[in-house]
Amino acid sequence: MKRVISVLLCVLIAVSCACVGFAAESYDSFGRYEHVFIIGIDGAGAAFGICDTPNFDRIFADNAYRHDAQTEVVTVSAQNWGSILTGVDYATHGFTNDSASKTQRGSDSSNNSIFYYARKAFPDALLSSYCNWSAINHGIIENDLHVRKVNRKSDALVTEAITHDIAFGRVPKLMFVQFDEVDHAAHSHGGFSDEYYAAVVNADKYLGEVYDAIDAKGLMKDSLFIVVADHGETTNGHGGTTKEESSAILAVAGHSVNQTVLAEGVHNRDVSAIALYALGIEQPAHFISSVPADLFGASREKTTASNPMPAQEKFWRDLAYFFLRFINLVCSPFDKR
Ligand SMILES: [Zn+2]
Repeated sequence: MKRVISVLLCVLIAVSCACVGFAAESYDSFGRYEHVFIIGIDGAGAAFGICDTPNFDRIFADNAYRHDAQTEVVTVSAQNWGSILTGVDYATHGFTNDSASKTQRGSDSSNNSIFYYARKAFPDALLSSYCNWSAINHGIIENDLHVRKVNRKSDALVTEAITHDIAFGRVPKLMFVQFDEVDHAAHSHGGFSDEYYAAVVNADKYLGEVYDAIDAKGLMKDSLFIVVADHGETTNGHGGTTKEESSAILAVAGHSVNQTVLAEGVHNRDVSAIALYALGIEQPAHFISSVPADLFGASREKTTASNPMPAQEKFWRDLAYFFLRFINLVCSPFDKR
């Protein structure tokens, strides 16, 4: 009898091990994220791979990125932000800097943004977009979806608005951010100038502050954090078809993101497919963006993105935030812009 029980126990243990092994292999990241944060850095191209960017490095060291994701053929801002947000190419969505600046649009067009699909899936969720270049909020993201659109005139003020909102619990299901000052530096000083590279380092500081605000709330355990650029730059700015202009950073961090350099051929517009997939929203049939095959794997604990800020510096920053929040609460408790 003892022998029979021993054999049965061995069979049970073997079957359990097989099941655990099977479960570990059958992961699926579809809908595994509560929040998606997209940080867009205008004109950054592949420069995060060249500059001293400690925040980018710590956030994505254990995650997935590619410095030379493919942009739209027309390396202009609206053409690319349009594709990043709508999942189709420029020829299909047709946004230009001029049209985005001048013409608002509703959600009845055939090339709706990811905010349209997020709103359909989550009718009551907070959806937010913070931009330095207000044309994106004006003419690319629909004006009838109750997206909280915040326009600020500097990247520092964009960062301050985001960190303030997150500290106060305004945490969106889907957030888009556009920092603009890297592109400004290229237009003023050229794409290979010291000023341009300094602006990339500065953008790294801002994205680190946004990430830390999210992480400090314990949100990274179920959030996807994406950094993407619309295009790169040359000494003469952008708009052409050079390798520098048509390469852009695409980086993704999350609990089920593989530690990898994404395979060649990914596009910056793939952000739209990745965001919807992470939130559990079926990809619209007309999308040409797609989720890179090597992006997601098994969920796991990640420890590489901790805040390296020294305790003393953190104390003064937190104190400054406290006063900032207090002043903001007293002066403008309900910023609906
Ligand atoms: Zn641009």
